[in-house]
Amino acid sequence: MSDITLPLQYTYIEALPEGCIEWQPDTIATPELVYLNRPLAKQLGLELESADDKTLPSLFAGNQLPGTIKPFAQAYTGHQFGHLAPMLGDGRAVVLGEWLDSDENRWDLALKGSGRTPFSRGGDGKAALGPMLREVLLSEALYHLGIATTRSLAVVATNEQVYRQQALPGAILTRVAASHIRIGTFEYFAGQNDVANLKTLADYTLNRHYPDLAQQHNPYLAMLEAVIERQAELVASWMNHGFIHGVMNTDNITLSGETIDYGPCAFMEQYKPGAVFSSIDQHSRYAYANQPKIMHWNLARFAETLLPLLDGEDEQKVEVLTETINRFPDMYRRYLLQGQRQKLGLFYSEDNNDRALTERWLDLLHQNKVDFTLAWRYLSDVLRGNTEPLLKLFDDEDGLNSWLKDWQQRLHNDQPDSAEFSPAQRAAKMNTINPFLIARNHMVEAALSAASDENDYSLFNDLLSALQQPFEENAQTRPFATPAPEEFTERYQTF
Ligand code: AMP
Ligand code: MG
Ligand code: MG
Repeated sequence: MSDITLPLQYTYIEALPEGCIEWQPDTIATPELVYLNRPLAKQLGLELESADDKTLPSLFAGNQLPGTIKPFAQAYTGHQFGHLAPMLGDGRAVVLGEWLDSDENRWDLALKGSGRTPFSRGGDGKAALGPMLREVLLSEALYHLGIATTRSLAVVATNEQVYRQQALPGAILTRVAASHIRIGTFEYFAGQNDVANLKTLADYTLNRHYPDLAQQHNPYLAMLEAVIERQAELVASWMNHGFIHGVMNTDNITLSGETIDYGPCAFMEQYKPGAVFSSIDQHSRYAYANQPKIMHWNLARFAETLLPLLDGEDEQKVEVLTETINRFPDMYRRYLLQGQRQKLGLFYSEDNNDRALTERWLDLLHQNKVDFTLAWRYLSDVLRGNTEPLLKLFDDEDGLNSWLKDWQQRLHNDQPDSAEFSPAQRAAKMNTINPFLIARNHMVEAALSAASDENDYSLFNDLLSALQQPFEENAQTRPFATPAPEEFTERYQTF
């Protein structure tokens, strides 16, 4: 490792030694770098350019880490599908350390699939190549849609087999996250009545993610409010892009407000509030339309952990926390509607009927089994005088036409104070809000099977380039924009 230095910091484990275990990743005999997110490396100021062909695979496999790197696994618990799992933790991941970029932003660099840890329970500590490449595609898709998310820096194929239902090629993903502090991390210390470490964690989180709130009169309550706000904004952005996270367990909800843990997630194709793709979500707990309700529930679990940190009588504290938590639904609806107004091309005004107008539109999409992404996108064509693409998506043309009339009426009253806003200008602006491209399930599957089964990365690379420019309609994005065939929308399962 002579040609690369990676000075990482360790503020988390220094603050919370009882919340971590120092742990070395497994050694991988023949690691192969199959993906490197160069723009991200550059953005972070990681100087990887000087590294030779052997160094990067070895680094991102966790094999030969510079001597200053002391990886650790984090402890956490969490509510999984509504039930408390008393002990989870990084069962197949380690945090390599924290990287400070040139703007002094602190990022965790972590490996996923790097071998068993003391938290592995029955698991093998490994990850399969397909799901790690899936994490790359989906996390990049969200990032480029402007949704807060952890990111994927690299994927190394281990050239070892992992056994799921069958033998699969193994891989290790390097994840970049604002931190790996989860609701489940708070639940871990709260569950042990370890108030001293709980307070340290809360102070650490305030410092790292909400530094402006640390000086408030009641900083922990202020942090709860801030987390509620970030999560309201996050879930609203998932909903407005048709994203279904799939495993919203409390151990998969970050305090930073970033989307984390790309497992059985998927984008919805046809608009269907009950859409579920996850094979393990048998009772549809994490269905598309349930996401805000589930986040509210998760935030209540977070609020409970803060009880010992607040001053006052228990009854009074519960009342304050309950009142705070119950602001979530309205806050969420505000973010949702704010996003929907933009999607409708309403940039300059608010009208009390906007919510009803949006709901009628969504009802039409639902009844006509319309592709969620394209329906929104084609609204801008209507403004350019081309209603055809949108009409083609609908069976009920009369219903659509009557809605379009009301929508256009509403647009007339939405004008900037100064210059006139032409329909073409509005259409152009809408196309920066409503993507042309999402990560479509059949395309993701095709790209992953070519890469994972046949070692052919061409489709993966093409799809990735397309997902990095989701608002552009061009020769790169067009081949990936066609809605999935019916079987992918009705019976498709993610793992
Ligand atoms: P997830 O559903 O991905 O949030 O994972 C839930 C818990 O299972 C976490 O504690 C993971 O570390 C652990 N886990 C998932 N897959 C494995 C694996 N293959 N080996 C060990 N632990 C795992
Ligand atoms: Mg997880
Ligand atoms: Mg996972």
